[in-house]
Parts: sequence; C-alpha cells; structure tokens
Amino acid sequence: MLSAYLKTYGCQMNEYDSEVMAGLLKENGYGLVDNPEKADVILLNTCYVREKVKHKIYSKLGELEKLKEKNPHIILGLCGCLVQREPKETIQRAPFLDFLLGTFSFYKLSEVINNIRKNHKMVINVEENSNGLPKGLPKLRRKKFSAFVPIIRGCNNFCSYCNVPYVRGREKSRAPEDILKEIDELSSHGYKEVTLLGQNVNSYGKDLKEKIDFADILSLINQIKGIKRIRFTTSHPKDLNSKLIRSMDSLDKVCEHLHLPLQSGSDKILQQMRRGYTRSMYRDLVNETRKIVPGISLTTDIIVGFPGEEERDFQDTLNLVKEIRFDGAFTFIYSCLKGTKAAELKHQIPEEVKKERLRRLIEIQKKINQENNETLVEKEFSVLVEGVSKKNESELQGRTRHNKIVVFKGKRDLIGKFVLVKVTEGGCWALKGDRIIC
Ligand code: SAH
Ligand code: SF4
Repeated sequence: MLSAYLKTYGCQMNEYDSEVMAGLLKENGYGLVDNPEKADVILLNTCYVREKVKHKIYSKLGELEKLKEKNPHIILGLCGCLVQREPKETIQRAPFLDFLLGTFSFYKLSEVINNIRKNHKMVINVEENSNGLPKGLPKLRRKKFSAFVPIIRGCNNFCSYCNVPYVRGREKSRAPEDILKEIDELSSHGYKEVTLLGQNVNSYGKDLKEKIDFADILSLINQIKGIKRIRFTTSHPKDLNSKLIRSMDSLDKVCEHLHLPLQSGSDKILQQMRRGYTRSMYRDLVNETRKIVPGISLTTDIIVGFPGEEERDFQDTLNLVKEIRFDGAFTFIYSCLKGTKAAELKHQIPEEVKKERLRRLIEIQKKINQENNETLVEKEFSVLVEGVSKKNESELQGRTRHNKIVVFKGKRDLIGKFVLVKVTEGGCWALKGDRIIC
C-alpha cells in the first residue's frame, strides 16, 4: 500500500483543509504515516500569518530535500497559504518540489499526484476562484466527537498587517443547506460538538442571495439532534451585533465563550491597523456581552509592536487588558509582511522593544488567567473529554462549555464522552479537578 505524510501549519481552517487532504489521499489509496521517511507522498499544508512560520516551513523543507535526494521516488508537495501568497519565491527557494497547490485548488490533490506519478512534471496551481470548494469532498477527521465546520471562507477586511485576504480571497459563505447537511451527517456519526469556522463568522450570509445571517444559521444548527455543543471562531468586533449576543444567550447549545480579537487598546494603533472600531466601542461590546450572557468567557488576540506603537499606546493595551480581564489571550509580536499596507508604514519597532512588550503583556495576562481560574475552585462543570493530558499520561483532559481546559483522573474509555468534574485547583493554563460519579 502507498503511504503519505501530511503536516499542517497554522489555524483551524488549515486543520480542516488538511482533513479534506487526508480524505482525498485515503480515497486515492494512500495510508497516512507519522514518519516522512516511510512515505511515498509528503505534503505540507502551509501557513503564512507571520514570518516565523515561513522560516519553520523552509527549515522543514531543508530536511525533506535531503530525504528526497536519498529516495527520489518521493513526491513532495506544498499546499496552503504560503504557496498561495508566494509561489515564485517558493519555487526559487525549493526547486526540488513536485507540486504547489494553493488554497483554492488543493482539492485537485489526487489528480495532481497521479499525473506526477505518470509524467514526472512539476505542477503549480495557485489560481483564485470565487466558487468555493466543490461539494462532497471526502474528509478524514482527526477527532470522532468534535468537528470543525467552515461556514465562510476568505476575508474582506484587509486589516493593514494581515496576509489572510491575499491568501484566502474574498468572503464566500457556504450555502446553509450544505452546512446543515454536513452537521446532520456528523451528528449521525456520533459527533457531539461542532466548531464553526470563518475568518469573520459574523459576516456569514452577507454575500448570499437568501436573507440569512450568522445568528440565523446558529439557530438552525441548534435544532440538530445529537449535537450538544456549538462553538465558533473568529468574531470580528466591528460586526458583533446585539442579535448575535442575544442568540448566544437564548440558544442552549451555543457555548458561553467568545473569542473577540482586540489587537490593540490604542485608538491610534487600531486606526492604523484598519480595525474599524475604537477602544471604547470594544469596551461597550464586552460590557453588553457580559450583561446579556453572564459569566461568559472572553478570549482575545493581541499584537504588540505594530509600527508607530509608542510606550503610551502599549500602556493603553495593558490598561484595557487589566480592565477587561480576559480568560485567555493569544499574544503576538507584530510581523512585518511584505505586500501588506503596514509594511509600508514608517516607525517599525525594534525587535528588542517588541519582545520586551510581549514579555510584559504575557506576565499580566498570566496573572489574570490564574486569578480568574482560582475563582472556579469548588465549582462543578460538564466536561467533554478530549484525550489524554499532554503533561501527564495517566490523566485525561477535556473542556468546559466556557472553553476552560480541565485535567482529571479517569480511564481512556471516557474520551469523547461528557463527565461531571469538580474543580480542585485553578492553574494558569488549565484547571485541575476530580470526576464526580453520580
Ligand atoms: N480573522 C481573525 C484573525 C486571523 S489571523 C480576526 O480578524 O480576528 C489570527 C491572528 O493572528 C490575528 O488575530 C492577529 O492577532 C494575528 N496576526 C495576523 N497577522 C499578524 C501579523 N502580521 N503580525 C502579528 N500577528 C498577526
Ligand atoms: Fe486578517 Fe483582519 Fe481579516 Fe482577521 S479580519 S483575517 S485580521 S484581515
């Protein structure tokens, strides 16, 4: 049997795309292996949200080049965002690649691999198209109880620092019936949780003929039997409206967690980032959300060291972080990406300053995480068990509806099931608890 090795970089949308790639490979007769040395086809599904990930990918390609020299029969290909953004540079740096398939054409994987087997000709396909992916593509899902379901692809926002609109094209919502069919099928296969994906899920439906918005599709998904939890990511603050916040409260399966990227707490920087909201608009949204959905957990993304960010702008970010007290934050050093508007701005911030700001931000957020989590001690939560704890093989880990990770003792046959856990300790990244057997 032929075998394939597939490695994924980047966001949840890329993870989903990789599930499709894995499905296509399987359908084409390839078994997936964990070791590239045992593979006939090697595929990297790439990301290009920051420069650092590009360096990682090229360093991996350096290793794979050596492997291909030893085993010239290996077919080595790249898919995803880096390829979509920089096809020429990629080929210049890695001329030993057999194929490049962009974010719009990766579904042609099987045909491309089969042709290369026959005629050994390199394939590059990075054309954009506005039709979305074809229907009914096979998928090999990583989990058997929780699944990603894209509802909208692409982005129309062009935040000045971001590559996504260049690599994923314009917003394209999936037809509601396709989404509902996919989730119905997941439910009939025993799936209990879905995470709806989009660069900006709040834009869902704006490009469709029928009158439907994100709150409407949530309400339809909420009616699907078998599905117990609905999550979604990401929400852009400028498009978060009261209707959606109210539906987070009224729809019983929609989890009490909102990921709402702030990016910066300074009005000057937010404007330069082209985010379309101010610090006070963001604060008002948080207050409204917390009023309508009490106890909701809020997480965010923050970039430090955007061009022109002075110490006082950074202090505005720190102060807002201290005021809002997020339940978690993904924090990033600004990465200057060629071709974006922000790369043209003057006053790029020195690397040492960015690193030092990141360190201060992380220190504050860690303390907040710890304090927030300590308030949960003695409370009981329903936890969907996801797997074995990453730190301790003898323990399990799962998530509460509020997206808090809980680690507890239990047997592996609980994976994929709901259990009740009482929190005994609130750590910085996760809670510890004891299973309650009713
Ligand atoms: N669509 C989502 C974000 C997608 S990218 C949204 O608008 O919120 C995920 C995160 O990566 C962003 O929220 C941002 O914080 C970070 N990011 C994107 N481009 C970046 C860059 N050039 N430098 C540093 N961080 C970046
Ligand atoms: Fe990037 Fe902004 Fe679009 Fe998010 S909303 S994907 S940060 S351009």
